[in-house]
Amino acid sequence: MDKKYYILTFGCQANERDSETIAGILEKMGYVFAAELSQADIILFNTCCIREKAENKVLSQVGELKDLKAENPDLIIGICGCMVQQEKVAEKIHQRAPHVDLIFGTHNLDQLPELIKRIEETKTPQTQILSDLQEIREGLPVIRGVPFKARVNITYGCNNFCTYCIVPYVRGREKSRELQYIVQEVKDLVADGVVEVILLGQNVNSYGKTLEPPVTFAHLLEQLNAIEGLKRIRYLTSHPRDFNVDLIKTISGLAKVCPHFHLPLQSGSNQILQKMNRGYTREHYKELVETVRQYVPSASITTDIIVGFPGETDKDFQDTIDLVEELRFDSAFTFIYSARTGTPAAKMSDQIPLTVKKTRLQQLMQVQNQISLAINYQLKGQVVKVLVDGCSKKDQEILEGRTATNKSILFPGPKELIGKFVEVELTDPQTWILKGKLI
Ligand code: SAM
Ligand code: SF4
Repeated sequence: MDKKYYILTFGCQANERDSETIAGILEKMGYVFAAELSQADIILFNTCCIREKAENKVLSQVGELKDLKAENPDLIIGICGCMVQQEKVAEKIHQRAPHVDLIFGTHNLDQLPELIKRIEETKTPQTQILSDLQEIREGLPVIRGVPFKARVNITYGCNNFCTYCIVPYVRGREKSRELQYIVQEVKDLVADGVVEVILLGQNVNSYGKTLEPPVTFAHLLEQLNAIEGLKRIRYLTSHPRDFNVDLIKTISGLAKVCPHFHLPLQSGSNQILQKMNRGYTREHYKELVETVRQYVPSASITTDIIVGFPGETDKDFQDTIDLVEELRFDSAFTFIYSARTGTPAAKMSDQIPLTVKKTRLQQLMQVQNQISLAINYQLKGQVVKVLVDGCSKKDQEILEGRTATNKSILFPGPKELIGKFVEVELTDPQTWILKGKLI
């Protein structure tokens, strides 16, 4: 009987994409997907360490597998992803969870077959963690979650070193993929039935700067926009530092590039932005948003905001609230600052008490939720084009899809529409989702 695998993925789209490669490698080795964790011969945790909460969640779930491992000693339990790239974490895992057989880093995916073979042959745990990517490995196998949408890496790592962020330490220095590999991959994906691609990078706007000869993100978008059969192009994430009017103009002229701009603000206070090493001011950010709205009037704009960064005063926080009220984002991911060992902000003396951080988060969410609802409410009665992603998790009779502006739309409809573009009339807009009916 075929051996089965189960992967639990935590964190961002970069991790989701890595899990697709891990699945591809395992399937090439002959493993098949296990519908349930208890049926698996190998269970992998692809981890995140962006905030402390993410790490604790993984460790407690790994702990719960102790009994399963005792019942089935041949079961391989592995931990990979960002968490294990941190200093001394592999040792910590070995101590806290001795039933873990395999630990491998974000730059070691291609070594998975060799590591599994060694565990099977020697019955000893294996650890393999490279601190940085030597060279981009092209052509690794991939298993996509859905046949019609695909995530495509364009850069790996990050050079920005925002003072709160662990990503540059666990994902290494920024490296861009060669333009021709990306274009070829997207052409192959389209030939395989993909209609929407999501380009991934921590700062997509700096794509190609270190390539020989250099290439711009705008040029990459133009090349991809020309691929016949491709319908939508998304990208994550734009760093405001490298986002500029030329890029906005290019995007406004490319029909397939979605009018959705995710531009993480992080804070509305210039003092905090500087301490965060974000490389822009609130005035510059405001200008960018105004330029987006000028060239792409249909644009939705979303953001990320951190509350309770060290030294954030009531006035700094009020600056964030004021800017949020002024700019009126379609939605925002809001986070409580989490100190990450090894980052400069974790060593700053003026850490904010958790109670204050929680109160600020609540206040910010309340303000943003009202804005999101008001913006969505204006869409009532409109007909929007939706790519149907699948059934709603709560109700199999309800379909879920996204507009080009990345709004989540729910409506009753048959499963045959999954993967297709449909028109939906919006009847009941809410804060996070919009309900409607199929036209
Ligand atoms: N590269 C993207 C950028 O700069 O916009 C962000 C990538 S990060 C995976 C996603 C979000 O996590 C960030 O935008 C930030 O708001 C949040 N984040 C990162 N480090 C954090 C920390 N230490 N505490 C709380 N939130 C954090
Ligand atoms: Fe982290 Fe800043 Fe890099 Fe984004 S740009 S991954 S927040 S260091």
